[in-house]
Amino acid sequence: MKKIDIHIHAKEDDPYMDRYVEIMDKYNVVAALVHGVKIPGLSSNENVLKVVKRHPKKLYGSVYVDFRMPIKKCIDLIKKYSDFGFKSIKLFPNYGYDPNDDKFEPIWKEVEKRKLLCLSHCGWLILNEHTKDSSALTASPFHFEVPAKRHPNINFIFAHFGGAATYLETIVLTSRLKNAFADTCPGWGKWVFENELPGLKSLHIDQIMYGTDNAGENYGKDEIWWTKKLKKLGYSEEDIYKYFYLNAAKLLGIEK
Ligand SMILES: [Zn+2]
Repeated sequence: MKKIDIHIHAKEDDPYMDRYVEIMDKYNVVAALVHGVKIPGLSSNENVLKVVKRHPKKLYGSVYVDFRMPIKKCIDLIKKYSDFGFKSIKLFPNYGYDPNDDKFEPIWKEVEKRKLLCLSHCGWLILNEHTKDSSALTASPFHFEVPAKRHPNINFIFAHFGGAATYLETIVLTSRLKNAFADTCPGWGKWVFENELPGLKSLHIDQIMYGTDNAGENYGKDEIWWTKKLKKLGYSEEDIYKYFYLNAAKLLGIEK
């Protein structure tokens, strides 16, 4: 089935993502959103810019913005990468800020004005030397409740299905707000479905989408796994097409 991966990164050993794009073609992944991250050398914003220039209409850019910076710096960064055609901003609220905070309002206004998406990491952040001081406490969907209500034209995507402990926040927001979405990226996104946790049968499937954090050669197996799982939960072929392709295609402006 035709797929879009809403959540990947560029890796150091394939800096232009040439090899990755070949793999995408092999498994019918027609497009992907590439997110910058904070770790130098790994998917920095400059590197994301390089890969999206090299693979237009295949790879789309998402600029990493650290809300701990002065507000003006955040806005300047957003303007710069939006001018390059980026589609999204990427956040890690685990670094100790609450996206609901009123002081971020000027940033959200700019994001809305520029018709950008916002994809946030949600839940536990992989433990390494850069993430020792991070906390999952501020990285959950409810921390986007205020901007999501104030800015109906910003589409928010909660990565990893909103995190394991807070996946119910994803279900609440996606069923109450049209601009709240989630990806099912592993580990916790997939974990929630593996365990068939309560509430999954009443998802608004139009607001859930495929993301993998770089499935690579596992795309084939992954497609089989998700198709089986969604069927078991009662979703139709059409729903599954929306999940793998159509929902993301609409958010990226590929389909109307
Ligand atoms: Zn990721």
